[in-house]
Amino acid sequence: MKILVINCGSSSLKYQLFNMENEEVMAKGLVERIGLPGSILTHRYGEEKKVIEDEISDHERAIKLVLDAIVNPEYGVLSSMKEISAVGHRVVHAGEDFSGSVLLTEEVMKAIRKNSELAPLHNPPNIMGIEACQRLMPGVPQVAVFDTAFHQTMPPKAYLYGIPYEYYEKYKIRKYGFHGTSHKYVAQRAAALLGKPIEQCKIITCHLGNGASIAAVDGGKSVDTTMGFTPLEGLMMGTRSGDIDATVITFLMEKEGWTTEQVNNFVNKKSGVLGLSGVSSDFRDLETAAGQGNERAQIALDRFAYGVKKYIGAYAAVLDGVDAIVFTAGLGENSASMRESICSGLGYLGVKIDSEKNKIRGQEMDVSAVDAKTKVLVIPTNEELMIARDTYDIVKGKA
Ligand code: ADP
Repeated sequence: MKILVINCGSSSLKYQLFNMENEEVMAKGLVERIGLPGSILTHRYGEEKKVIEDEISDHERAIKLVLDAIVNPEYGVLSSMKEISAVGHRVVHAGEDFSGSVLLTEEVMKAIRKNSELAPLHNPPNIMGIEACQRLMPGVPQVAVFDTAFHQTMPPKAYLYGIPYEYYEKYKIRKYGFHGTSHKYVAQRAAALLGKPIEQCKIITCHLGNGASIAAVDGGKSVDTTMGFTPLEGLMMGTRSGDIDATVITFLMEKEGWTTEQVNNFVNKKSGVLGLSGVSSDFRDLETAAGQGNERAQIALDRFAYGVKKYIGAYAAVLDGVDAIVFTAGLGENSASMRESICSGLGYLGVKIDSEKNKIRGQEMDVSAVDAKTKVLVIPTNEELMIARDTYDIVKGKA
């Protein structure tokens, strides 16, 4: 069975085509600058790639080009679109409506549209991608896999904020958590590497990329996570502030005369390691600058590592112990120095990194010392495979 996985952003679209017989990626690619000048599709198949520059005015046009590329006689991998049995879509926000992946029906679409209010930047492009596929591939089952679903197992004491309960009832203001597909995938891989059933594992998963979040996973279930009502809460990130005293916002609005849009922009786009360092939101640039003696770049790196360490401590308390700490996503998979910095001083938790093994980049690896009680694992995330598996299970009637 061939399954197409689609991840639509506001101006970009990523896709992967899986052969579920062996979970091989047959083709994958990226459409960039949708609706903007200079739009481009980069299609990869095997070791080859094909770049198509065209006017890509909207998501429907983008998906049409992707489907054409997949069946192109020269650089395609299928002889007909009919070979695609199902499409799996990444959808960011399911609110409290779904705790797992679902087959897309008109009722599900209604719920996703309703939850756009909670994710105004993310759900609308996800919906555009789904609707375009429904028009271009009528009759082909479509499945939604939600970023928030994995965290729906959090108990009320973890997801409720300390505000009057009526605002939870009225507006559903609560912690939702994001990156759920990634946390779920790496937690499952971690259990496999530990050689134990996931039901018996206590795992802390650290997804550290441009966006960053940590989850406490007890017996395979998320019991707490750092991101909240939106993906702003928790860790300081590339450009997002993370946890902040809410009064800072109202103080700045009064002092600077900012609108809600300006203040949203400030905490989401201008803050984080970019704002603190004044150098970059990219950790590679920060590591280079810090190496050249830039003090603010070093402070930003230290503040980031400190934030991760604090949450690891907090989640070890939540879980009453920890079997493994997992690092994933761009920074977590690639930065040996960040992993070292986060794990230094966690000896009381039984964490001990092997500096040689920790040099690994972008590969699955246990980087802890042989005598370490708590394992530190580097596990490249694979959200697309997770989406393809869920889609496969739903279409096969297994889920
Ligand atoms: P997202 O999917 O959230 O956009 P990624 O998971 O791709 O982000 O992570 C991107 C981040 O990973 C970059 O901002 C960069 O800071 C960091 N990164 C990638 N490679 C390295 C590396 N070799 N060393 C340090 N940081 C890295």
